[in-house]
Amino acid sequence: MKFGGTSVEDWPAFERVAHIVRAHESARPLVVVVSAMSRVTDALLNSLRAAESGELVLAQNLVMAHLERHLRVADQLGTAARAGVHTTVESARREIVELLGAVGANGTRRARLRDAVASYGERLSAALLSAVLREQGLPAAYVDARRCILTDASHGRARPIYEETRRRARAEIGPLLKAGKIPVLGGFIGATIEGVTTTLGRGSSDYTATLVGATLGARETQIWTDVSGVLTADPRLIETARTVPQLSYDEAAELARFGAKVLHPEMIEPAAALGIPLRIRNSRAPEEVGTLIRARRGAPRGSIKAIACRTGFATAEFTPAHGFPGNGFARVVREISGRNQAAIHLMATAADRFVVACEEAGALPSILQDLRACGPIEFRSERAIVCCVGEGLQHARGRALESRDALRGLDSTLDWCSTSSHNFVSILDGDRVGAVVRRLHHAIFENHKAKEEAASFSG
Ligand code: ADP
Ligand code: ASP
Ligand code: MG
Repeated sequence: MKFGGTSVEDWPAFERVAHIVRAHESARPLVVVVSAMSRVTDALLNSLRAAESGELVLAQNLVMAHLERHLRVADQLGTAARAGVHTTVESARREIVELLGAVGANGTRRARLRDAVASYGERLSAALLSAVLREQGLPAAYVDARRCILTDASHGRARPIYEETRRRARAEIGPLLKAGKIPVLGGFIGATIEGVTTTLGRGSSDYTATLVGATLGARETQIWTDVSGVLTADPRLIETARTVPQLSYDEAAELARFGAKVLHPEMIEPAAALGIPLRIRNSRAPEEVGTLIRARRGAPRGSIKAIACRTGFATAEFTPAHGFPGNGFARVVREISGRNQAAIHLMATAADRFVVACEEAGALPSILQDLRACGPIEFRSERAIVCCVGEGLQHARGRALESRDALRGLDSTLDWCSTSSHNFVSILDGDRVGAVVRRLHHAIFENHKAKEEAASFSG
């Protein structure tokens, strides 16, 4: 069971978590993975930035307010538990102050330092949650996630080394489970073989949860968050978005990749590899069933299940001269995409144009250097990607064209392409994305008359 930052933002939230864990106690063995209390990771990273620009006092103040929040939660515990949390928070405070004082460093040392500072969010929330659970009579045991998740040394976005993680996680967690305990560990953090602290990237506690689930052969991994599952669109954009009851692993991975923040992009793979079902549930509304993600059963319906969107892209568009996709051109494109897999988010053809999108960072022109010989390229920034997801959108007979035509009919300025058999993707200016998603959502999920006319949308 993984609880996100908003599920542990304050004392009432910790109480809700304790209730939920208790309600699942009979399903033991169970393991709890927890994120930092909401906003703590941001505060730690901001504080490091302040220290880097010489504002040491500001840096320390930024962190102190958040350390205090842990103490306020501990105030609700009995004397011994409270004293234990105070000692843990006080050591963390001293260590963080020391780390902030060492920011003169640069290069690798700076990246290490950033991970070291960022790691305190999860280390503290896990220690605090295990104290809260014990206080509620549950046999919780704090586990240092850095002893379980072994990673490479790419600080800020470290990759887990699966076999060694499996060995260590089993060695750390297995005996506790055998002894009837409920292990509680922080998400997001790991360590290299030398024991240097690393982090797996922002929002990656979900990934820790599915990794731990896979290493232990879990029956199910539950992701408890602040919404009732994966919704038909981001509820911050679409108030009327509703829960999608079931998704396949592929659909979920696609949504995560194209911006549905409720799912971390890396989290699907470990669960899918072993067929472990994932449930996305709401810690504020535990009575709701949320979304079940598992292997697809039966033929895909070719219907759109949800819409995702992401801003912050730079794009390049290119109309190959003639004979597109001529052999020479296709080969150059293959080489470019092979060399830049990590940097390129999307590479596709829409209408007669070839489109490449990268996260905004200015690297696109250098990546596409080789294509310049083939003709003029149009670079644009502040772009967004909208993605309609559903298994079989490309394969369901007749449906694909119908759906695509229907999408085109909604907004003739948008071109749609597919980067897999389960999506329709369009690239547009970032400032249009809200209006476009609202329009699509209305037509696909809300406007029943239009839905009947274009049954192709939702099957
Ligand atoms: P946690 O702290 O629990 O990991 P996150 O903030 O990372 O939670 O993810 C939950 C948020 O994801 C929701 O509050 C919502 O704003 C956002 N979100 C974006 N797209 C979707 C979607 N399709 N369904 C549900 N939530 C979404
Ligand atoms: N606390 C980390 C972050 O804010 C990881 C997570 O919440 O999943 O990115
Ligand atoms: Mg998250």
